[in-house]
Amino acid sequence: VTYHPVDSAVGDDRLVSITAHDITEQREMLEEVKRLASTDYLTGAHNRRHFMSRAETELDRLTRYGGELYLMMLDIDHFKNINDSYGHNVGDVVLKEMVKCCTDILRTSDVFGRLGGEEFAALLVHGSVESAIQVAERLRKAIEDMEVRTGRHVVKFTVSIGLTMVCANEDIEVALKHADKCLYQAKEQGRNRVVSYCVKES
Ligand code: GH3
Ligand code: MG
Ligand code: MG
Repeated sequence: VTYHPVDSAVGDDRLVSITAHDITEQREMLEEVKRLASTDYLTGAHNRRHFMSRAETELDRLTRYGGELYLMMLDIDHFKNINDSYGHNVGDVVLKEMVKCCTDILRTSDVFGRLGGEEFAALLVHGSVESAIQVAERLRKAIEDMEVRTGRHVVKFTVSIGLTMVCANEDIEVALKHADKCLYQAKEQGRNRVVSYCVKES
């Protein structure tokens, strides 16, 4: 807070508090700008840029301190059909509801983001191969059981998930490629399933 000495009947205290108030407002505005820049406008999930930045942080932590990190890529099955059958607005509601479902199931320490379109990624911090597969399967099932109600329609849909272990010192892009490969296999094998490729470091 900058102190402004003035000759006034009002006294200095009010001037000091006005300046402090302005700074607080600016700080809040800056926080809001930062939040908007890192958030996907439609779903409220982290956007791709912020997800990648958080992923780099988690990878650094893994490389320095050890532990286990798992990366999941999730893609809505036949999402184009949802848009085509019910309209783009209903597609948007499906995206929003699916994000709510994912954030309910994932832990707050996990990192979840929208990579683009109907494709999402999650970094599972802590845990083991078994728990990562369990989380992916729980997500898949919860989404399969969801009913999205919008006006006249009740929409059901499924997701395919690719899951991989992230190794220390690995490039995050390489890990994403592995997860994407698994996701592709999940689609090939008939969708609505989890395919995992988990390598344990020796
Ligand atoms: P697959 O099972 O192979 O993943 O098929 P798909 O139909 O889900 O995949 P495809 O890539 O053919 O279609 C994705 C569609 O997602 C096309 C695009 O119009 C739609 N989409 C992307 N972003 C949005 C969005 O923000 N809102 C809505 N409603 N649709 C979107
Ligand atoms: Mg899709
Ligand atoms: Mg896709």
